[in-house]
Amino acid sequence: MRTVMQDRMGTAMGTNRRNVLAGIGAGVAASIAESAFAQGGGRGRRKLGYAIVGLGSYATRQIMPRFKECDSSRLVALVSGTPAKLTRYAAEYDIPAGNCYGYRDFDRIRDNPAIDIVYIVLPNSLHAEYSIRAARAGKHVMCEKPMATSVAEAQAMIAASRAAARMLMVGYRSRFEPHNRLAIELARGGHVGPTRIVTAEHGFAAQPGQWRLDRALSGGGSLMDIGIYSLNAARYLTGEEPVSVQAVESTDRRDPRFRTVEDRIDFMLRFPSGAIANCVSSYSSNHNRYRVVGTGGDIDLEPATSYDGQRMTIRRDGATTARVLPAERRSQFALQLDHLSDCVTSGRAPIVAGEEGLADMRVIEAIYRSAREGRSVRFDRA
Ligand code: NAD
Repeated sequence: MRTVMQDRMGTAMGTNRRNVLAGIGAGVAASIAESAFAQGGGRGRRKLGYAIVGLGSYATRQIMPRFKECDSSRLVALVSGTPAKLTRYAAEYDIPAGNCYGYRDFDRIRDNPAIDIVYIVLPNSLHAEYSIRAARAGKHVMCEKPMATSVAEAQAMIAASRAAARMLMVGYRSRFEPHNRLAIELARGGHVGPTRIVTAEHGFAAQPGQWRLDRALSGGGSLMDIGIYSLNAARYLTGEEPVSVQAVESTDRRDPRFRTVEDRIDFMLRFPSGAIANCVSSYSSNHNRYRVVGTGGDIDLEPATSYDGQRMTIRRDGATTARVLPAERRSQFALQLDHLSDCVTSGRAPIVAGEEGLADMRVIEAIYRSAREGRSVRFDRA
């Protein structure tokens, strides 16, 4: 189901499509990209207030420093179980003591009108609980990927945000990154012909001793954490939902890192158009790449979904074009933050609402089942 925002984005991008397809000029591509997210028009309006929940690596190194780029969003509150972190980051970001919370008094955010949106950046198994508590406190929610550790949790999160009439968005930042946005436009627009094959590879060597390797906190191994980028890319590049999946897991259970979670899981998705996605998810080798192969050429991104440094190569009609798009004023992180703020202000649905996270969770559960049972799993669609 397309959201209103997706339709509007489609229109905004559609007007420029001929230019894109003709030249794929970097400037043109960048202006398409900015125009797609400029519609909420955050500049000049009150900036919506975010509370960050979980002051770990991603929150403090990637998200919090980007509020200064934002047009519609500002950091107003912090939630952590570690008082020293609250003191340190409250001083750094000029957050009043009254806007700092622990996990036990988290629900008091209900009484704080400065907080519009709660951003959950906790280990995966805590996403559902804190998203639901935030919605019940009357707040909109941005939740990190993976949205949850099961379909049932993702459904409960969506139900809670609906019951509270609040928005729920998943932190799929690549949807805001210019090369990924251009790749989607080109792949779905038929620039290299109808898509036949997507290959998507994501992985890194997991360091021991972290919550990611503890199933109780992570909900699973490489697939939940990094393979989800391969899965999400296969879905956003084709614009389709898979009809079946076949997966194979390769984990050395003698490796102390992989006592409770998987290392490698390779999966093949079959889409209604006949396109196939071959996907890699690994906790023991480095990968960050995807390629869309159409009947008339291919689009390659490497790195594809990193924080920066994307490089795109397009091959068509015997010609190879390399593209590195210019950096935009707002990074993918700031665009993601502003997108939810603009959606809250305008009432438009986010392009990566809870339903997008739920769609990934359904496939993730099927991938695990396929690997476990050694057979292809089909999706029944009503
Ligand atoms: P991290 O370990 O650096 O941070 C996790 C934070 O949660 C820590 O501050 C920790 O103190 C806190 N925490 C609260 N309760 C905890 C508990 N019971 N056990 C362990 N920690 C607890 O992890 P991170 O890399 O910041 O990841 C946090 C979330 O962000 C994850 O869901 C991850 O998938 C996501 N993430 C997303 C991206 C992205 O690019 N979108 C990148 C990295 C992480």
